[in-house]
Amino acid sequence: MGSLSINERIVGGLVGLVVGDALGLPAQFEERDKLKRRPIERMEWSDFFETPPGTWSDDSSLTLATVDALIKRGLDLNAIAEAFVEWFKHGEYTPFGKAFDLGMTVSSAVLKLIDGEPPTSSGMYRASNGSLMRILPIPIYMYCSPPEEVVEWAFKVSAITHTHPLALLSCGYYSLLIKAIMEGKSKEEALKTASKQLINIVKTSHPDMLEHLKPDGELGRVITLEILNAKEDEIQSSGYVVHTLEASIWAFHKTNTFKDALLLAVNLGDDADTVGAVCGGLAGTYYGLKAIPKEWVNTLQRRKYVLSLAEAFAETVSKRCNPD
Ligand SMILES: [Mg+2]
Repeated sequence: MGSLSINERIVGGLVGLVVGDALGLPAQFEERDKLKRRPIERMEWSDFFETPPGTWSDDSSLTLATVDALIKRGLDLNAIAEAFVEWFKHGEYTPFGKAFDLGMTVSSAVLKLIDGEPPTSSGMYRASNGSLMRILPIPIYMYCSPPEEVVEWAFKVSAITHTHPLALLSCGYYSLLIKAIMEGKSKEEALKTASKQLINIVKTSHPDMLEHLKPDGELGRVITLEILNAKEDEIQSSGYVVHTLEASIWAFHKTNTFKDALLLAVNLGDDADTVGAVCGGLAGTYYGLKAIPKEWVNTLQRRKYVLSLAEAFAETVSKRCNPD
């Protein structure tokens, strides 16, 4: 996959995330056994939300909000926080003008922002996946920056809603993985690079968090790459951030196409839209926009808006990383 252009990876990553969210939304809260009997194979209606095929949820909305803030104001926590408030209050960055599928942690944090709390103290001490699902634009925007800076910003942007070390470290790992993929590394190389870099950065700058990265720590299966050999019944897909990170990496690594990765990811059930979004970001960056099934992209609600925002972001990033 080393021959893909940066543009194809950026647009592929963002569209991949939105597609994964929309594909997984109808499987959210479903039990895996039930999905084994009737798997998701295409974009479907969500009976739970009563939304048409191609509807994307909070995962994509907060990602697009971050993208919009980065395009307009660069790396600025206040800009990102203001975009989150626009989403929450006025339904910006949504398919139908209204925020839905909101998580409790994100809601509590955004309400604090609305009350005037700064984004450096709005976050909640929770290890759920609501910051991991929306962190993708940070490593894309910063792919040409040193790994230490990427991780620091991933931590800061996570902490707008989620301050728990496992949420921060999951965002840090995912960001290093995206950076390595953007650099054209293979899956295994990228995973090994992310592990090595995160351990070094945490040792130097956040030694208090190191215990979580040890082989017997919560993120041990990811850091050691042991997760790649896990059987399906050893993979959980709940809203616990470690489960979401593990499930996404596992489905991405176990398959050879965007389509297969996403079908495997969303049919794990439970928090399927977020596992789909996080896996879609990885697979979309890795395989590029053209590898995403056309019928899935064409079914997306507000497809033109999503594609044009992704294109504008690719242009912004390319200007940042290749000045003049
Ligand atoms: Mg969602």
